[in-house]
Amino acid sequence: MKKHNFSAGPSILSEYTIRNSADAVTDFSGTGLSILEISHRSKEFVAVCDEARAKVKALLDVPAGYEVVFLGGGASMQFCMAPFNLLNTKASYLDTGTWASNAIKEAKLFGTVEVVASSKEAGYTFIPKDYSVADDSDYFHFTSNNTIYGTEMRYDPDMKVRLVADMSSDIFSRPIDVSKYDLIYAGAQKNLAPAGVTLVIVREDALGHVGRSIPTMLDYRTHIKKESMFNTPPVFPIFAALQTLKWYETLGGVAAIEKMNIEKAAILYDEIDRNKLFRGTVATEDRSIMNVCFVMADEYKELEAGFGAFASAAGMVGIKGHRSVGGFRASLYNALPKNSVEALVAKMKEFEKQH
Ligand SMILES: *Cc1c(COP(=O)(O)O)cnc(C)c1O
Repeated sequence: MKKHNFSAGPSILSEYTIRNSADAVTDFSGTGLSILEISHRSKEFVAVCDEARAKVKALLDVPAGYEVVFLGGGASMQFCMAPFNLLNTKASYLDTGTWASNAIKEAKLFGTVEVVASSKEAGYTFIPKDYSVADDSDYFHFTSNNTIYGTEMRYDPDMKVRLVADMSSDIFSRPIDVSKYDLIYAGAQKNLAPAGVTLVIVREDALGHVGRSIPTMLDYRTHIKKESMFNTPPVFPIFAALQTLKWYETLGGVAAIEKMNIEKAAILYDEIDRNKLFRGTVATEDRSIMNVCFVMADEYKELEAGFGAFASAAGMVGIKGHRSVGGFRASLYNALPKNSVEALVAKMKEFEKQH
């Protein structure tokens, strides 16, 4: 049975990405070699890496003065790499969830961290809006989409200071104004590629202003200068990323993708709001279009395991909420087809009829 993959990450990839990646495992670009065994310095792979970087720039309208690099280490590595390269004395962070607080923890190793606001006391069920960022802060860091809690900032904040964002779980889900940012990073395993590569978009003139020395591998300038080939990059995930980027182009780019995402999310949120068995868990105005979190309504709490089993028998995978939150989470990443959302909604309706 074909599964409906709602996993939070690693997560669904387009059929286009998977088919082309599978083909390249057998024969990469007519080389007679597998993508798994080819040299990262072969001209065929260098072309893949260059094309992937160019497509990121094209899809996100990355202005001049910015570089795109592919790194290892996951988004979690960026929690330390960002302050290593950008934090001189003080940085400001918005605490909107587990990933944001992990980023805060790392930044504290490099200087003063001002947490401008936090929704922790409320179980991270909303995005704080009343806060100000000190003018003398080296940068302001936020998490655009809180994968675990299902809240999202679907806008690019206006800041007087440098802007740094963890966009791991909503990059390419909407157009962004890159010119407002100095650094954007995203682990690939949500909206781009299999796990193993992290996308970084960085404004070049934001670098080189900290007093400390930076280990070679953790210095963005190393990877910019060597065009992501300072050491062996994650070859296969970068190849797969290129396929996803090509597929995004065929869909009409990120503006067209955003429309589809808004539509998919509305189908599910409407059902959560309508269906007496379920309720949403976060502030309506902060609802994520990528990760939709919901629980059983209070009077139907005992049906949680039952609905989980019911949905999984119908081929729904990955809708269990994060272990720290419970309930359900359906991740509706770019590659998730609308018919998977419709199938989940149909099961929610059917379950309601039975109870
Ligand atoms: C998944 C995720 C991370 C962690 O990514 P790793 O690549 O596992 O380090 C960080 N931030 C956000 C917003 C995420 O969704």
